Amino acid sequence: MSHKKPIPPVAAGAAPRPRCPVCGMATYSRSGTHPQCMQTSHDRLLRQANKPPVVPPAAGV
Ligand SMILES: [Zn+2]
Repeated sequence: MSHKKPIPPVAAGAAPRPRCPVCGMATYSRSGTHPQCMQTSHDRLLRQANKPPVVPPAAGV
């Protein structure tokens, strides 16, 4: 009665999954980034690039 349990790939440390640089979660995506996260980061970058200059509130109006 020595039935061995199959070792989970994660516990065996085989094929470490790439982590999404955006959300930090493991991803199966070929690019290593969730398509959704890629879109999110892209939007964020665009938003930062297009961010209007911060105008201080006019004092003494
Ligand atoms: Zn992600």
